[in-house]
Amino acid sequence: MNLSAGKKIIFDMDGVITGEERYWDAAALTVWELIFSERFLNIEHPSGLPVFKTGLSLREIAAVRRVIFCEDQVISFFKQRAVNSNWDLAFLTFSFQLLSLTRYLAGRGISFKDLYDGREGGLEKGITTGELSLMRSSLTAAGGDGWKPSFQDVLTDWAEEARGGELMKKLRNIFPPGYGQIFGKSGNAPSSSSLWKDTQEIFQEWYFGEEVFKVNYGKEPGVSGKEGLISREEPLIRVSAIKAALSELKRLGWKLGIATGRPMNELFHPLEQMDIWKYFDANSVVTFDKVTKVEKILGENFPLISLGKPHPYSFLKAYWGEEKSNRELASAAPPLPQQGMCWVIGDALADLLAAREAGASFIGVLTGHNGSNNKELFKNEGAEAILPDITCLPEFFTKDNL
Ligand SMILES: [Mg+2]
Repeated sequence: MNLSAGKKIIFDMDGVITGEERYWDAAALTVWELIFSERFLNIEHPSGLPVFKTGLSLREIAAVRRVIFCEDQVISFFKQRAVNSNWDLAFLTFSFQLLSLTRYLAGRGISFKDLYDGREGGLEKGITTGELSLMRSSLTAAGGDGWKPSFQDVLTDWAEEARGGELMKKLRNIFPPGYGQIFGKSGNAPSSSSLWKDTQEIFQEWYFGEEVFKVNYGKEPGVSGKEGLISREEPLIRVSAIKAALSELKRLGWKLGIATGRPMNELFHPLEQMDIWKYFDANSVVTFDKVTKVEKILGENFPLISLGKPHPYSFLKAYWGEEKSNRELASAAPPLPQQGMCWVIGDALADLLAAREAGASFIGVLTGHNGSNNKELFKNEGAEAILPDITCLPEFFTKDNL
């Protein structure tokens, strides 16, 4: 019987090796486009924000993000509430402005039914981003531009104790009567709505840029001229230092794996560009698309199964590779690695919780969004070690720590 897949170190990516800065830029640009572009809500630009266009300077991108995320306070707000996906970050930020707009319209006696009655699919079908223009027309008919977005408003206590996916439900429930249907019929999670899917696609257009988007999606983007933020990705620490650390860990006999919320093509290209893909064992890499594929297959028997972190599946899969079946790894009592054979390196609570469930040892690094503020959290949650960044790993694994 094979009791071990050997010695492996599994890395989370964002906040550990890659930065999330370009994702946050893409999220801010997505919200900005949905609110101010002529194709969607077409609201008049407040001062401090560039007029909608697709070719932006770095300064203009920074200005958009500063306003939309209120100096990044909105990013912290959602991170602290365990929102891990940056698609969700864009969607929730935009939806909160939609909440404000629909309250404004409802206050003027304009109902969801007034706006969307008679449309194809009926009132039960959630709206698309293309149908946002109906709200715009109605706003004009109601007397012009009385409504303005206010990006600070999200930073209140509307979410109460809600975390992760619960935030979406919470938000839907506080829409004016009838307006929750913009996300589809009642009971439909906003994250499975047409608006979410459209928002994700606009995000991908900004992140990939026109040319890569066309290749990846096999269709034209909604608007041309986006340059792509992916080519501007920067590592969190010097590439030469990352390379030195990874190659030393390999020399010490560790196999290196990855468990990340990034899709494969958003992982491979930046790592290849930094010339560090070669250090990782391809059979020990688990990405967003792999996890959703398995969710779909297993979902036929277990609907609503969610295998993303903090579920231990992605770390277990990265550890065991093809040795164990997905059904075993997704089960309530999965096969665990032998003590000390599997180490997880992460920057967030979701990584620590997933690592613990996966029977792995956890090292928290302080290069994530919360920086050194995570020290206390990792300590209280029982991390085996807390290190400033991944360049400290070879020394840790050389000492008598194991
Ligand atoms: Mg991370």
